[in-house]
Amino acid sequence: MQILFLGAPGAGKGTQCKRLAANLKLIHLSSGDLLREAVKNGTAAGMTAKSYMDQGKLVPDPVLIEMFAEKLSSPACAGGFILDGFPRNLAQAKALDELLVKIKKQLSCVIDINVADGLIHERITGRRVCSKKECATPFHIKFQPPKQEGICDACGAELMIRSDDKPELVDERLKAYHELTMPLIDYYKQKGLLETVEGEGEPEQIFKSILKVLKVAV
Ligand code: AMP
Repeated sequence: MQILFLGAPGAGKGTQCKRLAANLKLIHLSSGDLLREAVKNGTAAGMTAKSYMDQGKLVPDPVLIEMFAEKLSSPACAGGFILDGFPRNLAQAKALDELLVKIKKQLSCVIDINVADGLIHERITGRRVCSKKECATPFHIKFQPPKQEGICDACGAELMIRSDDKPELVDERLKAYHELTMPLIDYYKQKGLLETVEGEGEPEQIFKSILKVLKVAV
């Protein structure tokens, strides 16, 4: 299966994609995680991306398209993948169409996780993530708190706040989402691939809704 997730920053894509990937044995490709790793490793892509990410703006398309061209054509993705955060605008969506033709794959489904803007601020500013790169389990201080404050349930490492989750960047990120990413909802609706899942309940309930639209059991 090749699944693409849409949804505003803070809609819960990361949490759901991680769980879905583990259950369906698919590769989870998160553009945000890949970019943060590139920044950390000081690669050329990371160096370009950093200043855009620090301002809550979209990183230039060629950086993302090159990154995903490499990932999607790797043997690891041959058994199926979940795209989370890419594409984020029309130019990237068209580039993805071309990449899919090249690797002879099609999207099985596009899932839009729908969350009202009013909730997004609280979702993003309360977000925490495990600081250990191999773990990176996401939490939320209100909606998905760890058993022990500041500590990852899964591996015991400290939790941290992502640098682009600063409250002052949230409005800028939402603006980019509305202007550039939301048109993709229509793009994939017209292709007959779009399914919408309500993203405002408990993570468990949202996961069940996702399995239902994918018509899979785990
Ligand atoms: P995310 O973790 O998906 O919210 O992404 C964090 C940041 O990475 C975004 O605010 C953007 O600066 C950048 N980013 C992630 N995905 C993309 C993309 N597909 N195109 C451009 N920039 C992106």
